Amino acid sequence: MFVPGNLILEDKTFKEKLVILKKLFILFDRLSEELKKACLEGCSACCTRNVTLTGLEAKYVLDGLNSDEKEAILTKIVNESHKKRLVPQTTINELAKLCMAGEEPPEEFGDPAWGECPLLSDNRCMIYALRPFACRCMISKQRCDVTGFSEMDEYAVTLSNVFMQYLEHIDIGGHFGNLSDMLLIEGGNKSHVATIQPDNILVNKSLEMLMVPLEDREMIAHVIKEIQKTMILT
Ligand code: SF4
Ligand code: SF4
Repeated sequence: MFVPGNLILEDKTFKEKLVILKKLFILFDRLSEELKKACLEGCSACCTRNVTLTGLEAKYVLDGLNSDEKEAILTKIVNESHKKRLVPQTTINELAKLCMAGEEPPEEFGDPAWGECPLLSDNRCMIYALRPFACRCMISKQRCDVTGFSEMDEYAVTLSNVFMQYLEHIDIGGHFGNLSDMLLIEGGNKSHVATIQPDNILVNKSLEMLMVPLEDREMIAHVIKEIQKTMILT
């Protein structure tokens, strides 16, 4: 565990938080360029129904779409809403707190066999430039469609977890859930929202400790400085 430093965000407006989110995505993309990566746009074996995201990320997706695109995406999600999907049991900051307390986290159930992401069309992501962090941080050293599984560098996992913890923190007061549920909550009409089970949605938690193994602390200290610069200057 690693203390994250100054994280005061109360004075940020919703628009400023969206700007921070975008800058964190850009920073992550830059930092991850240095990692060995076989992932490319159009490679979609990892595009399952089990993607999770914060409410702020869902708003970022919806904000970047025109009304026709939004309608098409929400309709596709509603049409597939009967299909099984991962319903998260904890957020990442909640998980960090459980680990700090030496408690066992609840089990998560997400089977890739439940099918492909509703935003995948002809093997292409319909929102690629706006895709959530959970999709950006899939960094496999080998093509999963060739080998049948992804292989992530241990530092890449740490880097992703750190960003995920900050992304949850900047959306304090907001929610967390499966991509389908969160897009309907943030962009759907009343009847769409009424179809969502309240238990499917979690409340975001503040960042108190970062999950960083000892061997990655030095590298992550530099990353944290860059993340904090991004958050403070916005
Ligand atoms: S994680 Fe695997 S399936 Fe996903 S983009 Fe990377 S190589 Fe392709
Ligand atoms: S949002 Fe896009 S990148 Fe993410 S899983 Fe769905 S299709 Fe794939």
